[in-house]
Amino acid sequence: MSETRQDTFTCPQCGEDGPIDLWTSINVSQDPDARRRVEDLSIFEWTCPNCGKTCLVLHPCLYHDMTNEFMVWFAPDGEVQEGAEFSQLERYTLRTTSTPNEFREKVNILERHLDDRALELTKLILIMQLSRDNVDVVDVIFHSIDQNGQFVFVLVHPDGVEQYVRLPAATYQKLAHDVREYLFTPAHGFQTIDLKWAKESLELLKDM
Ligand SMILES: [Zn+2]
Repeated sequence: MSETRQDTFTCPQCGEDGPIDLWTSINVSQDPDARRRVEDLSIFEWTCPNCGKTCLVLHPCLYHDMTNEFMVWFAPDGEVQEGAEFSQLERYTLRTTSTPNEFREKVNILERHLDDRALELTKLILIMQLSRDNVDVVDVIFHSIDQNGQFVFVLVHPDGVEQYVRLPAATYQKLAHDVREYLFTPAHGFQTIDLKWAKESLELLKDM
């Protein structure tokens, strides 16, 4: 079941308090509309009943996809509230994220049954190529796979402009193979698989 917790929030514009429903957990298998609310981030949206100001209120939320067997924690302060019993979830992929973009990107990756470790490494290699070409980016986000099987990423430039780039599937597939062969990722507990993880792992792969 998806769950909400009622709280009050103080409007940053007019200073009035208003009620807010915080989504503490989302079960997308039982609540299909939740997928859209994560994609457009409206699960974090709050509109002030006094002045009409809309803002994003970030709070911890556990996303659960029973069909595709994964859970993603969104923990904006980095604190993951574990403690649930996961012994029955051995096949599950469990991940933590700390920014809204990472959160929805992780869901997008895992529901396609892609290896997010290989994808973070693919993104890192893309960033290194861009840096060699003197192209500055503040974020690289996996977007989709196009009709030709190419991997589509969104580059966010420092001025906020977004650009789509495509990489051949072979880049990802090679890394997915290396990750499976050489890198051990614990199967239990929530793991953070992000660019920082990719940087450390690329060093390990280089030494092999
Ligand atoms: Zn207000």
